[in-house]
Amino acid sequence: MCPSGRTKGYSSTNDPAMSIFRRWWARLPGAAPPGEAHALLFYVRCDRCGEVIRVRADRRWDLLQELGDGVTGYSLHKDVLGIRCNQLMRMVVRFDRDYRITQQEIEGGRFARPSEYEAAGS
Ligand SMILES: [Zn+2]
Repeated sequence: MCPSGRTKGYSSTNDPAMSIFRRWWARLPGAAPPGEAHALLFYVRCDRCGEVIRVRADRRWDLLQELGDGVTGYSLHKDVLGIRCNQLMRMVVRFDRDYRITQQEIEGGRFARPSEYEAAGS
């Protein structure tokens, strides 16, 4: 089973307009990007040291299909490790068939906003 078909034609992500769009989209968890077909961005803050880590996932490789009566949705499971400490965070995000986020949780940390990531990085 292959989830592709609706994502044909997007091979380059180096379009500068696309990175602006991606930044915009990152503020709206749950909104499906019509242009950036594959990238999924999340920001998580480590509970132990406060480091904000950007997590990038790709729909093509990172999503698991949730099967019920056909494909009912997708899920993303990521282990996230920062550089400041060795706490491993376990992120689970669930999507419906249209790649809208229906549930997201993280063990050992919490979800952060892109602005928190930018503030921590400077
Ligand atoms: Zn940490």
